[in-house]
Amino acid sequence: MQGFTYHRPTSVADAVVLLQSEGASGIAGGMTLLPVMKHRLATPLALVDLSGIAALGGIEVDGETLTIGAMVRHVAVADSPVVAAAIPALAALAAGIGDPAVRNRGTIGGVLANADPSADYPAAVAGLGATIVTDRREIAAEAMFTGLFATVLAPGELIVAVKFPVPLAAAYAKFRSPASRYAIVGVFVARFAAGVRVAVTGARPSVFRVPEMEAALSARFDPAALAGIAIPPDGLNGDIHAEPAFRAHLVGVMAARAVAAAGSGAA
Ligand SMILES: Cc1cc2nc3c(=O)[nH]c(=O)nc-3n(C[C@H](O)[C@H](O)[C@H](O)COP(=O)(O)OP(=O)(O)OC[C@H]3O[C@@H](n4cnc5c(N)ncnc54)[C@H](O)[C@@H]3O)c2cc1C
Repeated sequence: MQGFTYHRPTSVADAVVLLQSEGASGIAGGMTLLPVMKHRLATPLALVDLSGIAALGGIEVDGETLTIGAMVRHVAVADSPVVAAAIPALAALAAGIGDPAVRNRGTIGGVLANADPSADYPAAVAGLGATIVTDRREIAAEAMFTGLFATVLAPGELIVAVKFPVPLAAAYAKFRSPASRYAIVGVFVARFAAGVRVAVTGARPSVFRVPEMEAALSARFDPAALAGIAIPPDGLNGDIHAEPAFRAHLVGVMAARAVAAAGSGAA
């Protein structure tokens, strides 16, 4: 690892100024950034530690919106009675991320900024129609991810919080890698008064919704409504874990499982 300067600001404003310096990088829990630095795939000249900024913490519900601060760690979402009461599917998703070490250090802001194609939270933000709040704007979840490890965030732009609309019911089902627990395919289903949303992670370079499934489930919220809806394997990810055709199959299976779980009140 090469040398770097280290800063630990206590306000968003100070962090944003520090992040404007050449070669600066924010660091949340370091779960991705530190291994990447150890392999010299990233060589920041300055690390801006976000852990001292109280404004990036907190979990709260206001009306029909659940807000989670960017630096909130996965274990805190998994264990939060506020999340469990508002969107239990989100608490369950967080509880299924990685292992205890990853959940104790990894953050929601870090996952979203990193945009790993197999990460779980992208399915939740797209499935729930969340809004990602940064130091300078609000980004609709659908506009956030632009490809493999790519987002619309500008250099130095800081995620401050994520706002989730509270659904009538929701559930997340993933077929996970037994080694890392990352999603080989994960499907988040959320039912709102206005209709159903279905978001898939792990299957393409970034999260996507499935309009055919959404229409069918909006008409009848039952796993049987998904019968006959096939996801074409074209353009799906293929790797040592799963070929595109297997991922296409998994999308249908995980979607049906998520609908069954949401319908049974396990949202
Ligand atoms: C072994 C292992 C297993 C894992 N399994 C899973 C899994 O099953 N599911 C899953 O979803 N994830 C998984 N992860 C990822 C994990 O959830 C971490 O949250 C993720 O690696 C990001 O780490 P972090 O939050 O510590 O961010 P960091 O590593 O500190 O930062 C990652 C990147 O995000 C940027 N960043 C961080 N915070 C912000 C912010 N607020 N605003 C803007 N940019 C920011 C940083 O500058 C950096 O570029 C796994 C990770 C590991 C190492």
